[in-house]
Amino acid sequence: MQNTNTAVITPSQPVRSARLWMPERVMFTPAASEEPWGQQILSRVQALNLPVEELPRNRLTGLRGESDRATYDISKRTLAVVTAPPSALKLSPIPPSADWQFHLAEGCPAHCQYCYLAGSLSGPPVIRAFANLPQILDNLTHYKQPGQTTSYEVSCYTDPLGIEHLTGSLAECIRYFGQQEGMHLRWVSKFDAVDGLLDLPHNGHTRCRVSVNAAPISGRFEGGTASVAARLQALRKLALPRSPSQGGYPIGLVIAPIMVMDDWVEHYTHLLDTISETLDFDCDLTFELISHRFTPKSKEVLTTWYPQTKLDMDEATRSVKRNKFGGTKYVYEADVMKELRQFFEREIARRFPKAQILYWT
Ligand code: SF4
Repeated sequence: MQNTNTAVITPSQPVRSARLWMPERVMFTPAASEEPWGQQILSRVQALNLPVEELPRNRLTGLRGESDRATYDISKRTLAVVTAPPSALKLSPIPPSADWQFHLAEGCPAHCQYCYLAGSLSGPPVIRAFANLPQILDNLTHYKQPGQTTSYEVSCYTDPLGIEHLTGSLAECIRYFGQQEGMHLRWVSKFDAVDGLLDLPHNGHTRCRVSVNAAPISGRFEGGTASVAARLQALRKLALPRSPSQGGYPIGLVIAPIMVMDDWVEHYTHLLDTISETLDFDCDLTFELISHRFTPKSKEVLTTWYPQTKLDMDEATRSVKRNKFGGTKYVYEADVMKELRQFFEREIARRFPKAQILYWT
């Protein structure tokens, strides 16, 4: 039976919202303070009574601790409001997720032990929010492909919902894309505070996704995030129509990183059942399936950040994949990949016949 009348259903999993991240330090560079969007962020931060530091120069300093782990601890408690450098206005493609990526921030307050940012961002993992957002958004139209819909991914270097209460930048992106023809926004999160997004004029131009995983992975490796059940409740709220004239958002599930663990069939079956229980109504739904991988660099950084981690990063059990720039990454062996892929494609088709699987990787 379809249940579209209420935003909450009784879940079979515990719903634990993420605590809103409250940084211990908020630093503003002079350039960021001059930006109207920087002032808007300042108002939010001051309303939350967070301590603000005005930096003398447009450089971040004072983030290094006595060890790499201490630097990590300091950085993950710090929000730096900065202006994105001119290079941020030169967009890169991001296949298979979207045509282009752009960034409203870099860094994330959560503590996932497999975090892909470990291999892509360098330096202390301080959370940097960009104060020149209007300039970043205005630049996007230069990348629009004529005669077709161009997609833009905004969550490659951050979890935009995890810092939304401090920046308001995700809502601004959604409003911007709502007014554009032929330009679609995509974002993904492991947080659940979506109430401020529900009534935005998105025009169906933004696809909201949550990243989910089987209980042994999310419970052990995803510190500081909302529980999977809470993420799914958030996705449900986003997908439900708000009024006869305001439809729900297109939504998506990113199942990542898919890992082989004891009883993985049982655990991932349970995850898919929970998704199916929560999304018990017709909606525009996609799936993205990403198997676990790591690089020599990401392994080195992650083992510095999480020296006690039990995350499986044993090169001996993986295949090496090389990219065109000579970089290597470690992925599951071909037969394991095949088994995982067949399982997900079959079980998703069975439960969600109308949903599209965008890619497996
Ligand atoms: S939520 Fe995403 S970006 Fe944030 S720590 Fe986890 S994996 Fe990294």
